[in-house]
Amino acid sequence: MDVSDLIDPLNDAQREAVAAPLGRALVLAGAGSGKTRVLTHRAAWLVRVEGTTPYNLLAVTFTNKAAAEMRGRIERLLGISGSGMWVGTFHGLSHRLLRLHWKEAGLPQGFQILDSEDQRRLVKRVMRDLEVDENRWPVRQLQGFINARKDAGERPDDLDSNDPYTGQMARVYAAYEAACRSAGVVDFAELMLRTVEMLQNHLELLGHYRRRFAHVLVDEFQDTNGIQYQWLKLLAGPEADVFIVGDDDQSIYGWRGARVENLQRFRSDYSDTRVLRLEQNYRSTSTILEAANALIALNSDRLGKKLWTEGEQGDPIALYAAFNEQDEARFVIERLVSLIDDQGLARSDVAILYRSNAQSRTFEEALLSRRIPYRVYGGLRFFERAEIKDALAYLRLIANRDDSAALERVINTPTRGIGNRTLEAIRLAAREQDVSLWRAASGLFASHGALPARAANALGAFLGLIDRLAAETADMALADQLETVLDRSSLRAHVGKDRSERAQDKLENLDELITAARNFQQDAQIDEGMDPLTAFLSHAALEAGEGQAGAWEDCVQLMTLHSAKGLEFPVVFLVGLEEGLFPHRMSVEEPGRLEEERRLAYVGITRARQQLVMTYAERRRLHGRDEFGIASRFIRELPPELVDEVRARFSVTGPGVAASQGGMAGAVAPEAEFGLGERVQHSRFGEGVVLDCEGNGPNARIQVNFDAVGAKWLVAAYANLERV
Ligand code: ATP
Ligand code: MG
Repeated sequence: MDVSDLIDPLNDAQREAVAAPLGRALVLAGAGSGKTRVLTHRAAWLVRVEGTTPYNLLAVTFTNKAAAEMRGRIERLLGISGSGMWVGTFHGLSHRLLRLHWKEAGLPQGFQILDSEDQRRLVKRVMRDLEVDENRWPVRQLQGFINARKDAGERPDDLDSNDPYTGQMARVYAAYEAACRSAGVVDFAELMLRTVEMLQNHLELLGHYRRRFAHVLVDEFQDTNGIQYQWLKLLAGPEADVFIVGDDDQSIYGWRGARVENLQRFRSDYSDTRVLRLEQNYRSTSTILEAANALIALNSDRLGKKLWTEGEQGDPIALYAAFNEQDEARFVIERLVSLIDDQGLARSDVAILYRSNAQSRTFEEALLSRRIPYRVYGGLRFFERAEIKDALAYLRLIANRDDSAALERVINTPTRGIGNRTLEAIRLAAREQDVSLWRAASGLFASHGALPARAANALGAFLGLIDRLAAETADMALADQLETVLDRSSLRAHVGKDRSERAQDKLENLDELITAARNFQQDAQIDEGMDPLTAFLSHAALEAGEGQAGAWEDCVQLMTLHSAKGLEFPVVFLVGLEEGLFPHRMSVEEPGRLEEERRLAYVGITRARQQLVMTYAERRRLHGRDEFGIASRFIRELPPELVDEVRARFSVTGPGVAASQGGMAGAVAPEAEFGLGERVQHSRFGEGVVLDCEGNGPNARIQVNFDAVGAKWLVAAYANLERV
């Protein structure tokens, strides 16, 4: 048998891993050393050499994007497609198991998935019912508590109710569970926990899957949490061939309960584990790799590994100190335009990575104004936009009238005269009779005099609308069903009227949703036994928007550092490197969390193949506040000889003198420049402080906060400012 295509593209250590004897293997290796490559080759090896079938493989990873790539690579190596192979994320695979075995899991057949915003609303409602004071017990805190308990595999009964604090939390948790049950919904954490419980309670099912999944492969193992570890161990059983790969230096989900100790735990749970190491990095230039190695060496408590490369030295890491976030975005966009135009890079070769989602906006605006196509991964996900969620809530209600979260969302969107008082009455009745909001509402409508006539009419119209839509659209294709619902519910008209912001965008989003529904049904991504509507709704809840229109277009890639895990790009811009932002201010006090931030920086740096550009801003407006930033310690922790500071930056100059920029403009009389925060004098407005600058040369403008008249923008060339 010729397996040269499986073996040739590997080095010796990688080959040894791919061809390891069946049993337990752990590949522990640094970034870019080929772990994911080894894992996909191993899967193909099992089929082609060990004689197993794709049907007997279970391959797990963390993001939809990574799962899709992994499936594609394995199928290419096997020369097949659509093989019935189970490749997915923990949540996606759990969802699939629960759909197949909803009865054993104790769920209604058409159960829906609650995303985190809906979950928050439901927790809030439960708290209101229990009269828990939101000021003392913030909703988010309770939501976090519930998810953390589920991630640890604990139900309300497992908690210590003698402790007053835990007791209160457990009470809310229990009531929340009851509300989920009566609505027929499950949250993300529940997908995992419910699957584990189902398998534990149905040994015949467990036996079936253990026989089926004789080979289990897991990527990014360092980020598994308690319940995921349990899930894996349960499905793998004592016999399976288990192949896991991971890197303790890239563990970045500790804040969400991931435990890097699972790497050690695996070795002690399976004492026959063969540990393999890969040390050659194939991704980055030696400059980038050296910087990454130096940074991560500052962490204590590492399993320790060496990483080297034969790659060329490459360019130094470029560092740009911007004076504010606008200037940062301008610099990044100019750089990337020149890379694309002059050096012929594809737009998708370039990634902009940041610590938190809120940072994407400035870059998006700058890209938009230059008409450069871009894509934000994992930001406000497409399916989380309000208008999309409203549309989906109608569909959910049509699929399952007991979905109270969906009913709350649309009962008065668009407004149809169902007031707060009516809603309160419905909620109260639901609570007293322990039924869903829909049933309570129907009951109130049917019993004469329970509601004032106007309210009863409005409610009756709503209930009738939903029932009619359900009956009339039952046989339609998904996309047509959606069209009908958008029109007949007047949701489309309502969205179009929205004057406050971007109605046009929202209408386009609704159109895109229809396209997504059409593609979804055409691609037949539907498991047997699931109706198309339920399948589409689950897809919307689980999918990070990767299937949205435009995904195939050549776009600049924007994402948080967390979502960049496992990916690589020829050019990476690592932006917002300021103390307080990255490392995040919440983590600088605690050594453990600071080390996690440092691992995140390590992940960011090691995404780059050829060029790495870092930026920070000395002033930043974030969440509506101005902050003054100093360079992140992660910059200072890099060997200085690897970093090249892009020095002379934009500055505003006196009349007639061109602004200098990036060292490209000619000499500038230093006395003519004004720095941010400097005090200046204007002939009419008096004294003030320089706040901001923008534009170049004769177009340069400067913002000054005058003591007497407040902030003003002036054209620098005519302002005749003098330093005080
Ligand atoms: P990460 O820790 O970031 O997930 P990884 O260890 O999974 O990284 P891969 O993504 O598998 O690393 O590989 C990094 C890059 O190196 C990829 O572009 C891959 O194709 C390439 N690569 C891996 N092994 C080899 C090899 N033996 N020869 C040539 N290229 C290789
Ligand atoms: Mg990888």
